[in-house]
Amino acid sequence: MIVVETGTEVREWRRSAQGTVGFVPTMGALHEGHRSLVRRAREECDRVVASVFVNPKQFAPNEDLDRYPRPREADESILREDGVDLAWFGRTDDFYPQGFATEVAVPLLARGLCGRTRPTHFAGVATVVLKLLHRVEPNRAYFGRKDFQQFVLIRRMVEDLDLDIEIVPCPIVRERDGLAMSSRNVHLSERGRQRALALWRGLTAAKHRFDEEGDRDATSLVLTATREILAETGVELEYVELVDARSLVPVEVIEGDAVLAVAARVDGVRLIDNIAFGADR
Ligand code: AMP
Repeated sequence: MIVVETGTEVREWRRSAQGTVGFVPTMGALHEGHRSLVRRAREECDRVVASVFVNPKQFAPNEDLDRYPRPREADESILREDGVDLAWFGRTDDFYPQGFATEVAVPLLARGLCGRTRPTHFAGVATVVLKLLHRVEPNRAYFGRKDFQQFVLIRRMVEDLDLDIEIVPCPIVRERDGLAMSSRNVHLSERGRQRALALWRGLTAAKHRFDEEGDRDATSLVLTATREILAETGVELEYVELVDARSLVPVEVIEGDAVLAVAARVDGVRLIDNIAFGADR
């Protein structure tokens, strides 16, 4: 595995890379969720590039940029073990040198859901992902459905800006008890981790109503999830919303593909999760 830190080195590597290239962008503190993306890329592409960069532009000043975990050595050995060809540990001064002034935005998809409490987040994500994609020039890039709004927004950006890259969505990897894996889970206390399970209980309760009782009414499904989540103390609910899987516009009655998404804080840690309703899983 080749390890690099700058975009210039990535470009050089890319010029000599043979065959198809799969790309997995991450912020590190790698877990099974990330690894499932790398494995998928490995299966589908001749070469695999993974990046690890905690992108300051997607954190607001009051957010957890400083305490985001950065286990550089552990991440490097995981990527090595998983057969990554090029590992790019990005540096802020290389991504955003003095004078950097551009922002990429996808406003229609960035306003709702997480965008309501994180109004600058998705422009930060779109900006860094476009830069990453330009450097790696992958044939395919792999994104987890865990960050559903992010995946939808990146797919839109790639389509709108005519990039010849396939955006591949990958299933959410969960702990055995259902908790969606996240780099931020390390900040949860033992009790907090138990409390955090309420999110998954809420989503599955709504899904059960949808599957078993044929309930298609958004208000009723959202209420089912909300009740279940609020039954747990210490969960600060931010939103529960049922949205169209492509436009992210709230739906009233499920007719096509929809996603029930949730965000909440437990122990001061912001958690997100979602579940698909309909065919687009
Ligand atoms: P992050 O390091 O949190 O920015 O995530 C990097 C990529 O891994 C994103 O595409 C995430 O959606 C994906 N990812 C993170 N957690 C999971 C998970 N539990 N299951 C599947 N994909 C995930």
